[in-house]
Amino acid sequence: MSDFDPEKITFSSGNYINGEYISAPGDSLGVKRPSDGQLYAEIHQADAQTVDAAVTLAEAARIDSGWSTCSPRERGAALFRWADLIDGDSEYLAKLEAVGSTRPITDVINHEVPFTAAAIRFYAECADKYSGDVLPTRKNSLGMLINEPYGVIGAITPWNFPLSMASWKCGPALAAGNAVVLKPSELTPFSTARLAELAVRAGIPAGVLNVVQGSGQTTGNALVTHPLIRKVSFTGSTVTGAAIMSQAALHGTKPVTLELGGKSPQLVFDDAGDIDEVADRIFQGFTANAGQACVSGTRLIVQRGIAAALTEKLIALCQQPQPGMTWQASSRYSPLIDQRQGEKVASIVAASVAQGAEILAGGQRFEHPGDGWFWQPTLLAKVACDNVAVQQEIFGPVLTIQVFDDEHEAIALARHDVFGLCAGVHTLNLPRAMRLINALDAGTVWVNRYRRTHDFIIPTGGFQGSGMGKDLGRQAFEASMRQKSVLIDF
Ligand code: NDP
Repeated sequence: MSDFDPEKITFSSGNYINGEYISAPGDSLGVKRPSDGQLYAEIHQADAQTVDAAVTLAEAARIDSGWSTCSPRERGAALFRWADLIDGDSEYLAKLEAVGSTRPITDVINHEVPFTAAAIRFYAECADKYSGDVLPTRKNSLGMLINEPYGVIGAITPWNFPLSMASWKCGPALAAGNAVVLKPSELTPFSTARLAELAVRAGIPAGVLNVVQGSGQTTGNALVTHPLIRKVSFTGSTVTGAAIMSQAALHGTKPVTLELGGKSPQLVFDDAGDIDEVADRIFQGFTANAGQACVSGTRLIVQRGIAAALTEKLIALCQQPQPGMTWQASSRYSPLIDQRQGEKVASIVAASVAQGAEILAGGQRFEHPGDGWFWQPTLLAKVACDNVAVQQEIFGPVLTIQVFDDEHEAIALARHDVFGLCAGVHTLNLPRAMRLINALDAGTVWVNRYRRTHDFIIPTGGFQGSGMGKDLGRQAFEASMRQKSVLIDF
């Protein structure tokens, strides 16, 4: 993939409803490129009436087209075709994503697009491999548990990984026979609509997957509260997740899957092995997508014996990234999504320093042409547990460093009052790793690594304020169905 001119890319900006792009009559919202802050498009926000049309058409489509009732194998076949079309459209999808999101083009083409197609294939495989149950009852009767789709699922995705987040929501929901109305973040709206367009080309009936554009307050809220939405699946901040959960409860006691924020610790013991490898893992863990990932490992908790050496390596790694427009093939380092996010990172770093933190690397915005916000990888030492940078999800490339002497102290430092999404444990001592796995309050524990794999069988989801339910894995597929109990007397 070579550099491309972001001005030359063309796309449709409407809501994708019932197999067509439709311009909603609502307010228009400007959309900016994160790399240079330039306004490059507008969306017409779907108001309650447009959302109602999308949901009503989705409900009709899933029934009239037979999507909810056809053999699961047929649904699986359609999802396989969809994944193939996504791979075939890789270059265009990658450009759309690189212009509008924080992901450099090389990264999108090598990882994000294949990852998106692979997640859909995983759920295509699930479609006909999950059965109900026959339950032991009296001899002249038959008890059964039947899985069936909910109906229309409302999905809301954030701006950090628009393509893969859409696949994590739509893959399981569609494989299970539901229809989906999805609202992407209004900051990154276009690649998701393209996915829906490809779904229709793949033979998924028009109306079964719809994309509505707009803000959370208007479009998201209308979606969550719509009476025909039977389940809500959301990824985003903990505060918004709680608001959505209460709205879903008030408008139909709908089940929710919430994939929320994190403040994940990375615990490094003296016996962690090759220090260069460990430093690289820690560094990638908090700088990938410039720290704009729910799973970012942003709290380094390191044993005293290795602390100085590891910190020195991290300081050196922090000097390496260079900002570059996301449409340049050589760019590897992501901008922050927008000015608001940039100012949030800047204000938390400043507040952390005011509370006594020492900046060991970074701590500032990169100088770079245009109005993009590229934040330097930042290390903060001398942070107490109540320091704002230890407590708050920053969503920027900022790592706090805390030192411990023994395992007991490490576990105490790892604890967080709000979040429990992920944790990293770096040690070659297996019994210690097992003790830590048991002790840590985290929905995912990575040992001697700090990143996902393409093994979609491993679900993801948080404890406490980091959410409920799981994305990915068989669990996300099962959670896309409701169970009906049946008792037949002969
Ligand atoms: P939000 O959680 O507010 O937004 C995520 C999605 O939810 C967006 O599509 C948003 O739309 C929508 N939304 C917001 N309010 C509502 C509502 N009342 N009803 C329905 N949908 C709603 O995250 P932000 O984009 O505002 O980012 C703020 C912070 O959230 C970040 O700094 C970061 O800490 C965290 N975050 C965590 C993510 C994760 O992966 N866990 C992802 C993104 C952010 P809209 O964009 O219009 O608000």
